[in-house]
Amino acid sequence: MSAVLERVLLPRLGFAAAWREAARGLLLRRVPPEQVDWQRADDSPGLPLFGANADTPVIGDEEFRMPRVLLGLIEDVLCANVPDRFSLPYRAVWRAQAERHLLGDESDPDMARVRVLSKLVHRDAHKMKAFVRFCEEASHGDRRAFAAWFEPDHFIVEATAPFFARRFGDVDWRIETPSGCAVCTNGALRFSAETQKPAALADPTEDLWRTYYTNIFNPARLKVKAMQSEMPKKYWKNLPEAGLIPGLVASAEQRVIAMRGAEATLPAARSLRMEPYQQPAAMAGDVAPDRRDLEQQILDCTRCLLHCNATQAVRGEGPDRAAIMVVGEQPGDQEDLAGSPFVGPAGRELDAAFAAAGLDRASTFVTNAVKHFKHSMRGKRRIHERPGISEIVACKWWLEQEVALVRPRIIVALGATASLAVIGNGTAITARQGQIEQSLFGPPVIVTGHPAAILRMPEAAHADRLRHELAGALRTASRAV
Ligand code: SF4
Repeated sequence: MSAVLERVLLPRLGFAAAWREAARGLLLRRVPPEQVDWQRADDSPGLPLFGANADTPVIGDEEFRMPRVLLGLIEDVLCANVPDRFSLPYRAVWRAQAERHLLGDESDPDMARVRVLSKLVHRDAHKMKAFVRFCEEASHGDRRAFAAWFEPDHFIVEATAPFFARRFGDVDWRIETPSGCAVCTNGALRFSAETQKPAALADPTEDLWRTYYTNIFNPARLKVKAMQSEMPKKYWKNLPEAGLIPGLVASAEQRVIAMRGAEATLPAARSLRMEPYQQPAAMAGDVAPDRRDLEQQILDCTRCLLHCNATQAVRGEGPDRAAIMVVGEQPGDQEDLAGSPFVGPAGRELDAAFAAAGLDRASTFVTNAVKHFKHSMRGKRRIHERPGISEIVACKWWLEQEVALVRPRIIVALGATASLAVIGNGTAITARQGQIEQSLFGPPVIVTGHPAAILRMPEAAHADRLRHELAGALRTASRAV
């Protein structure tokens, strides 16, 4: 066995950046993984940062090639609360230099562990986004101030805090955890190794939240195991609504019996007036999925690797029973941050086309063929990348569920990716523009260009033609229903 020659000591905060810098130096000096001892500063007090042999001469000055997907996975593994969180990623990047197909090797033990840890870290980050509960505390300035206590399983605070900074940019907040704290003041995010559990704060909105939770709790839909898997008991102690759950579960059966025995309620008069305009009966054998379940499953989806680098899955938006479903390609940069489809520049083109077609976007269901944003980094910019066939096929599962939920009478497919997902035909749109074709899911489909193509068109006349075609397709759909 080779002796350990390098000891790398990583700080408690900023460990990911420090690891990247150290790993790059080690790779440049061609130090093999078995000769590196990775440690965290507070595990080994007194050792110098970046170890004993940091002055080993650099051999060559080549750049390293690394699949972006692997880099994304590694960022996750660095946050995992396991002893090999630093050594495993280094071994993976070391091996990736020589083994071109390492990433795709499903049977490789290192890559299998990398994927498992990435998944655990993602799940922990997802739970943090779902279960952090802020309480208002005394503010020392003009802005309101909030504090929360959260106990993650992994070292995810630095990686996950930007999500809260984007979402709650108009207030000051701090999230305290046992291993450090994230503080956002006037929109500026900082981290501290010092942590202080907020004193029990009385938040007047908690009662309101408990009342709301009690009212949306549907005893007929109760599945205790599924609920506990989604909301594990370890988080309960910091959730104000958790105290209600045992009582709600215990009384669920009685409430269901009472609901069954109660008189049927009549539909509202407005619903009766709408009946003639409603869609045909459901297709035989089809069972519409529950929307909330479906949306949560999409948010948790890891069917392909696109979830690794995106902020969140972007689910379709619109009424449950929209007559028209509009399917785009995938979320863009702004959609990925906002969690809503078509809110960026392409969305504005789509809105303009809706207006030109005299169609209300809010009456349609707007979604994408692929639910996570595929991109590559150029400097600090996230550049859109077209989804691959395997990603489109993996994500078609969700599109099919959305179609089963909404049961549209007609689908408008925007661009070749949407056409491939909906019809199974991804050939050029130009020749098929405005045609009505048959979807794989049942309803007919109108094929047209994606609004992002308008933005890419250098000639104003061509851009206008695409705008005209897009509005025309929406108008045709509107007339068809
Ligand atoms: Fe799942 Fe679709 Fe996201 Fe892939 S792109 S992880 S299939 S939701």
